[in-house]
Amino acid sequence: MTVLLCGRFDPGEQEAWLAALGQACPDEVFVSDRADPRATAADVALVANPPPGALQGLPRLGFVQSLWAGVERLLADPTLPPAVPLARMVDPSMSAAMAQTVAWAVLALQRDFFRYARQQRAGQWLPGPQRRADDFPVGLLGLGEMGAAAARALTGLGFPVHGWSRTPRTLPGLRCHHGEAGLHALLGEVAVLVNLLPLTPQTRGLLAAPLFARARPGLHLVNLARGAHLVEADALAALAQGQLDELVLDVFAEEPLPPGHPFWLHPRVTVLPHVAAQTDPATAAAVAAANLRRWRSGQPVQHLVDRGRQY
Ligand code: NDP
Repeated sequence: MTVLLCGRFDPGEQEAWLAALGQACPDEVFVSDRADPRATAADVALVANPPPGALQGLPRLGFVQSLWAGVERLLADPTLPPAVPLARMVDPSMSAAMAQTVAWAVLALQRDFFRYARQQRAGQWLPGPQRRADDFPVGLLGLGEMGAAAARALTGLGFPVHGWSRTPRTLPGLRCHHGEAGLHALLGEVAVLVNLLPLTPQTRGLLAAPLFARARPGLHLVNLARGAHLVEADALAALAQGQLDELVLDVFAEEPLPPGHPFWLHPRVTVLPHVAAQTDPATAAAVAAANLRRWRSGQPVQHLVDRGRQY
């Protein structure tokens, strides 16, 4: 059985995938060069943000497993075979990493640790009052794999947590909201907003001036999902006007964040290089292999993307 592994990989990453996948599925033949003539025999493709057109001309293709959690670029490729089932990556290690990043960002905002880091650079010894976690409500946009893991971490740390999803959800210890009215209610409550939504036509550009205007003044914003959720010019204006207090950003309209971008040196913006939750071949290969085995044995595959709702 031939499996095509294709995508855009950092140096050494493709080799790490091949080693981990070879161990997890010793009976499969992995082809990692799309130009390799054996690729046309592939009935399964494992993809990591592949260039558009990468899955064209594979007559036997029956299943696509994304090695990334977000699939918006894959879905935007008009050559993606429409009838082939597409699954996305859901790896508990990745959700745990995201929960750690959320906990770090929210704790640092609640306890003013970003401000103290700035004060250190200025040689200032200025202790401020200590805010309590139970007085620092957090809003989570998205209550899926990432949002639910973040919610568990935050409630464990004593933060009141509000969550927002498309459909009604119930999660232990959370005030759950959905729909437009739910978003409005959440924005009126929270001190910090953490974005963990998938990028879809409905969520693109959601983090923009109209949303900031509905939030409590001095909102902290943490974007760990996709750069296109945030209208960067609106965020900069809201920072200048005090509508937003502090930003923690892991994702950007253009990545890598271009030199000279105002976020780099803005005193109230913390920039991460898209590392909130990285896919780790060591754990994710086992997840992909388990789904591949399910597909081969005719069982339902897990974490199928709904092409209609686009996540
Ligand atoms: P899931 O599909 O598990 O969850 C998505 C959540 O968003 C669901 O709760 C869903 O609602 C909600 N949602 C979707 N559309 C809307 C909408 N229009 N209005 C309100 N809520 C909506 O995704 P994951 O949690 O696994 O991942 C989320 C995103 O995180 C990924 O798509 C990716 O972009 C990003 N990510 C970023 C990483 C990084 O390192 N920066 C790493 C991994 C992921 P419902 O429950 O009703 O379906």
